[in-house]
Amino acid sequence: MKFNPADKIQDLQYFGEFGGVNPSISDSSTYTFLSAKTMFDTFEGNTEGCYLYSRHSSPSNLYLGEALAAMEGTESANVTASGMGAITAVLLQLCGTGDHIVSSRTIYGGTYAFMKNFLPRFEIGTSFVDITDPEKVEAAITPETKVIFCEAVSNPLLEVADIKELSRICRKHGIKLVVDNTFSPLNIAPAKMGADVVIHSLTKFINGASDCVGGVVCGSTEFCLALKDVNDGAGMLLGSTMDSLRAASILKNLRTLHIRMKKHSENALYLAQQFEKDGFKVVYPGLPSHKGHLLFKNQMNSEYGYGGMLTIDVGSLERANELMEMMQERNLGYLAVSLGFYKTLFSAPGTSTSSEIPLEEQEEMGLSDGLIRFSIGLDNDIERTYSEMKKCFQTAHVASN
Ligand SMILES: *Cc1c(COP(=O)(O)O)cnc(C)c1O
Repeated sequence: MKFNPADKIQDLQYFGEFGGVNPSISDSSTYTFLSAKTMFDTFEGNTEGCYLYSRHSSPSNLYLGEALAAMEGTESANVTASGMGAITAVLLQLCGTGDHIVSSRTIYGGTYAFMKNFLPRFEIGTSFVDITDPEKVEAAITPETKVIFCEAVSNPLLEVADIKELSRICRKHGIKLVVDNTFSPLNIAPAKMGADVVIHSLTKFINGASDCVGGVVCGSTEFCLALKDVNDGAGMLLGSTMDSLRAASILKNLRTLHIRMKKHSENALYLAQQFEKDGFKVVYPGLPSHKGHLLFKNQMNSEYGYGGMLTIDVGSLERANELMEMMQERNLGYLAVSLGFYKTLFSAPGTSTSSEIPLEEQEEMGLSDGLIRFSIGLDNDIERTYSEMKKCFQTAHVASN
């Protein structure tokens, strides 16, 4: 049977304690035990269904985790206070002193900075490679390597990772494949293709309201329990716990993710096709001209499309800035970082979200100055948006081929 992540989410039913159609929100940091013995057993991790303390888990966090595990097709999931809270806990759980990571070089700036500047404190080294070249990926593996890390669709260059091939390499070397799927929820289900751990920043498409930060780690029950082990779990000990109220609100927003993703994808595809026809330098995985187009097509849950992210290179930072200010003035979107909002968001990654990456390296990976990253919104009339945007492009004298 076909794996449809949105159906899996829909099949989960939770009622409130008075029959409410939404589950009750757990409003407690700590929980009583009827017997002292049960409290001891819970500390030892031997009691299913008992709550101890909300940094460990809470009913609201478990509901959201269960829904996200269903979406990714994993046994379990732990929600975290942010996407970075998920990424840092996973990497510190899987790697110890002297270990090594092979990572895609085009990743979220914060993840890059963590690997490059922070993990060396623990003598954990990272080799950054071109993830679209499996031979280079495999060649970077050393006896100390524990993890291959990539984004299913990368930030900001929208490179597409071959999850099956990377998973095969990981199996061969006995290491773990960790995939950040923030750019392609529902579109791509990495665990179904062999990823061991799937991470999301819930801050983006999944919550979709730009009103909070959050994250999730989806993986095996064994791994998720290990992360929250009271003695040596990186999730438990680093303490990036999601608040229960927030877990409840994100779960409600998750209910409309499938509708939103279809609309984000439909609008992004339309704009990408039009701007490409006009001769602009558009990068969108749904365009046959995109290097990863066929790979995306082979890996995707087709009804959700190619996602809401696209980039356009307008030649220089000055022009990018002028254009973004103009588009904001005409209410076509907001000049803001982040993604997955109902409104289109745009930013120049070279000077914002990817500024952690040194200039030479930005150049090498093809991250040019004039690149604008768009998170396309849920505009009802995308044709009107297109014609208004095009006027801005003409006023800003953006060159076309
Ligand atoms: C935003 C983002 C993160 C970090 O998530 P936060 O919720 O901001 O901590 C990680 N990976 C990707 C791809 C992102 O876009």
